Amino acid sequence: MTNRVYNFSAGPSMLPIEVIEDAARNLLDYNGCGQSVMEMSHRSEEFEKIIQDAEANLREIMNIPKNYKVLFLQGGGTLQFAMVPLNLMTKSGKADYIVTGTWAKKAAAEAKKFGDVKIVASSEESKFSYIPRIQKGDIRPDADYVYITTNNTIYGTHYCEEAIPDTGGIPLVADMSSCILSEPVDVSRYGLIYAGAQKNVAPAGVTIVIIREDLLGQAAETVPTYLDYKIHADNGSMYNTPPCFAIYIAGEVFKKIKKEGGIAAMNAKDVEKAKMLYDYIDASKLYHCPVENKDDRSLMNVVFVTGEAELDKKFVAEAKEAGLINLGGHRSIGGMRASIYNAMPVEGVEKLIEFMKAFEAQNFKG
Ligand SMILES: *Cc1c(COP(=O)(O)O)cnc(C)c1O
Repeated sequence: MTNRVYNFSAGPSMLPIEVIEDAARNLLDYNGCGQSVMEMSHRSEEFEKIIQDAEANLREIMNIPKNYKVLFLQGGGTLQFAMVPLNLMTKSGKADYIVTGTWAKKAAAEAKKFGDVKIVASSEESKFSYIPRIQKGDIRPDADYVYITTNNTIYGTHYCEEAIPDTGGIPLVADMSSCILSEPVDVSRYGLIYAGAQKNVAPAGVTIVIIREDLLGQAAETVPTYLDYKIHADNGSMYNTPPCFAIYIAGEVFKKIKKEGGIAAMNAKDVEKAKMLYDYIDASKLYHCPVENKDDRSLMNVVFVTGEAELDKKFVAEAKEAGLINLGGHRSIGGMRASIYNAMPVEGVEKLIEFMKAFEAQNFKG
């Protein structure tokens, strides 16, 4: 492929080149059926196979227990901010949220429209630069669920094993939009996991929901049909027209992960890439990572600053000229952010570090 840049965008983001090339080969005539996946009926045999294989492969690579449903929905992570409370905040009407970034904050604000939300812990006072640890006693015993965002895309923080709260029997809900498929997850620990696909899975348009079966069927009758998880579970994500093309690409990504050694293999590569970058940042004189606690650092979104807003802007602009694009931090915080999801090759990170070194040599004034 010619002229491919290294795209460090937080999402939509890079997809594996092999998946794009294969989709391109099949774009006009998918597997000899004379039509594109974009054109085929979602009720066709071909598409039935695509969605069933996608689900089966996701179940296999994530080791999803049988008592969980896998749903392919629309509306992105943002619609889940509402669907979660509409479906689960229905017994005591209370839910406890841990606010570790903008997305968790938005999710809590949305849930407040529907019930009694308690912010159990927040790291906002320190610009979300760490993951708060909480005790079981911090959670209201009658909460319908506890909510976390396991990877904070904007702030570059992530829940390590020890930080994941022990909720006793209360369902734990996790937004894994920006880290799904990057590390092994014990699904049985969660009541519900969701992830918008456009960070680490597929093009925008599909949202993956993994929900324990006993949590289905709790939505009030006034909840719009599309927003009831049970409708989608009962209809194999085909209650209405699903986002067919995005599901197809997601399925191709799941197949590729399976072929390449599963999520453990993805994780090993992700750890290697992130370590290279953090080690360089920590050793450099110019760059600084605001996430001081190394256990809380994200493998997927590496945030760093020079400490000078003008210099940060120059960095982002010059990197772009060098074919390293979308390195600006989220518009709400500035600085830099390198999103290095599964599809970012090691060479992309090596190129970035090379560029950072040259930029440091030219711009560090000591
Ligand atoms: C991007 C993102 C969202 C929002 O996703 P949309 O699909 O744009 O609604 C929610 N949560 C996390 C963790 C994200 O990274």
